[in-house]
Amino acid sequence: MTPRFAVIGNPVAHSRSPEIHAAFSEQTGIRLSYERLLAPLDGFRACVFAFRSGGGCGANVTLPFKLEGFDIATQVSERARQAGAVNTLKFSGLEILGENTDGAGLVRDIRDNLGFPLEGKRVLLVGAGGAARGVIAPLLAERPEVIALSNRTFSRAEQVATQFRDAGNLIAVPLAELPSLHFDIIINATSASLDSSLPVVPRGAFGQGSLAYDMMYGKGLTPFMQMAQQAGAKVADGLGMLVEQAAESFMIWHGIRPRTDSVLAKLRQSCN
Ligand code: NAP
Repeated sequence: MTPRFAVIGNPVAHSRSPEIHAAFSEQTGIRLSYERLLAPLDGFRACVFAFRSGGGCGANVTLPFKLEGFDIATQVSERARQAGAVNTLKFSGLEILGENTDGAGLVRDIRDNLGFPLEGKRVLLVGAGGAARGVIAPLLAERPEVIALSNRTFSRAEQVATQFRDAGNLIAVPLAELPSLHFDIIINATSASLDSSLPVVPRGAFGQGSLAYDMMYGKGLTPFMQMAQQAGAKVADGLGMLVEQAAESFMIWHGIRPRTDSVLAKLRQSCN
């Protein structure tokens, strides 16, 4: 039987993960199937168990289930524990290993693919959900000067900053204080771009030569990217992060890290 993998989310129809894992499968010769699974908002756990019973070997977890993904895991890696969120599940008998590859994917894309080293930089991370939590420790490991964490619901940003207080220089900043601050790298880790709305980031936060990174992908220039571009920033969407985090998940499931450059280039072409 072909080993089955899936991405579980709500919504999930927009996910490009099936194409990416199909490309990795072709590149490495590892046989697999990879599908999209739409879980009801109150039915994530049931969806995971049904998939595993049906022969599932592993799954990616996307919004809004990354925190529930953490709860369902029977063992978690260090980076998933730090994040309190999981984007990769590996089934092994009755055990469910929870991993988080989002941060490694984001860092690789910003640092290696886009050529923006993070060391010594002032970073603004907007959002305090599963995606934001997943990237904080790997971003801090790159030794930025500071990461300012901002979120629509400020108490969540404060909670996350407290959770990571020993990991590096991470400060929760209220939205009202952002207009007086400037950043080298601004990362939109909210789901605002999903419905084409703009997270509350003041135009002044972006500057000439700064990088505005929207974790969203496949939506063209999001309102966040448009505003950043008008302010003179370089902009990037989350497609590179998606491919890089997928390569990390592939490594966890199959023990081989596939090459990402050609897969990203092909995906980018089909988005344009
Ligand atoms: P989540 O856990 O549901 O968290 C959503 C976050 O977005 C919360 O901080 C929420 O703020 C904020 N938010 C939602 N709508 C907003 C709006 N209109 N204005 C301002 N803030 C808003 O979702 P997630 O898993 O963290 O995912 C976030 C985004 O990252 C999604 O777009 C997802 O597709 C993307 N992502 C991309 C990749 C990739 O590989 N490229 C990987 C992971 C995630 P409140 O706390 O105030 O509700």
